[in-house]
Amino acid sequence: MKNGRCGSLGGDRKKTPIPISSQREKVLGVSRKQKINLEKVLASLDTVCPKCGYPITPDKILRIDSQRIMCPKCNESFVPEKRGGLGQ
Ligand SMILES: [Zn+2]
Repeated sequence: MKNGRCGSLGGDRKKTPIPISSQREKVLGVSRKQKINLEKVLASLDTVCPKCGYPITPDKILRIDSQRIMCPKCNESFVPEKRGGLGQ
């Protein structure tokens, strides 16, 4: 176990106040927001080939191994970028 570093990391983390009302809104407005959220999710799942720019949707992804995928258009293999990683 590390002490000190872990503590400072937790302290540096930006506090994001989450009002309780937003939780209720999430439940009530789910039908209205569902379409927007779905589009957002789909867009974020799209992986664009770095070589030919072909948008590879999740159902078209050809996995080579646990990390790399292959573009169905130009057969370029690459590691897809991960969004919202823990590194940043
Ligand atoms: Zn490609």
